[in-house]
Amino acid sequence: MGGVIGPGRRYADLTTTEAGRVGAGDPIAVIPAGAIEPHGPHLPLATDLLVAEHVAAHAVALAAAGTAGTAGVDAWLMPPLGYTKSDEHANLPGALWISADTLFRQVVELGSALRASGFTRVLFVNCHGGNSALLEVALRELRRRFGLRTFLYAGKATPGPTELGMGIHAGWAETSMMLHLHPELVDMTEAQARVPAALADCQHIGFTGPVRFGWLADDLSDTGVIGDPTGADAATGERLVAEHVAVVAGALAEIAEFAPAASVMWGVRR
Ligand SMILES: [Zn+2]
Repeated sequence: MGGVIGPGRRYADLTTTEAGRVGAGDPIAVIPAGAIEPHGPHLPLATDLLVAEHVAAHAVALAAAGTAGTAGVDAWLMPPLGYTKSDEHANLPGALWISADTLFRQVVELGSALRASGFTRVLFVNCHGGNSALLEVALRELRRRFGLRTFLYAGKATPGPTELGMGIHAGWAETSMMLHLHPELVDMTEAQARVPAALADCQHIGFTGPVRFGWLADDLSDTGVIGDPTGADAATGERLVAEHVAVVAGALAEIAEFAPAASVMWGVRR
């Protein structure tokens, strides 16, 4: 079971007979989530998708291999969510987005099908920020309706030194990771900074501050870039990708054992 995006354990490569055996334990479905959306003049539309697939594939391989003296985790790499909720980029060319309603329904129905195929646990590895809030809501929906244990890796923002804490899109971190993973798809001669400096003057309103705001990419930037990709480099990208993989692999080991409470006080949880 090889694969072009990473080593082994790709569920979609299994035969029906093999898939029938997957439900025997407590298998974890690992679903990469990205987007097809504008990433400025220097990065490809599939940036989030490519990073999510790589991180998920390598984390699954690492967790499945186990560490010395411990069994590997029963995790499987699923086909990704590619067309997702990226309407914040709708006013720029290349945004192939679907609505929040449509994505929510897709994820809920996918959860139903995963449960029917024997999966008991689901981890979304999301590399597109616009999906995170919706997936958090979906985690609870899948937990309540289908009894799935559900988890979301939403990564952590890693602002570059010249981004005033606002390198959230096609900036230093993403460009560095793409220079490491797919340098042939990056054109650094087109890399230009677009840091929304006026936002840094706000004490309360921000991407992660106590008061959030509804934004479209073209409110903040004429190119869609929100950050400064000019100082990006492949070595930084290699380090950032390795950090993502290590966290997701470590999380998979916890997810395999996760059971926060042993009993239900009133009645029986179905
Ligand atoms: Zn991105």
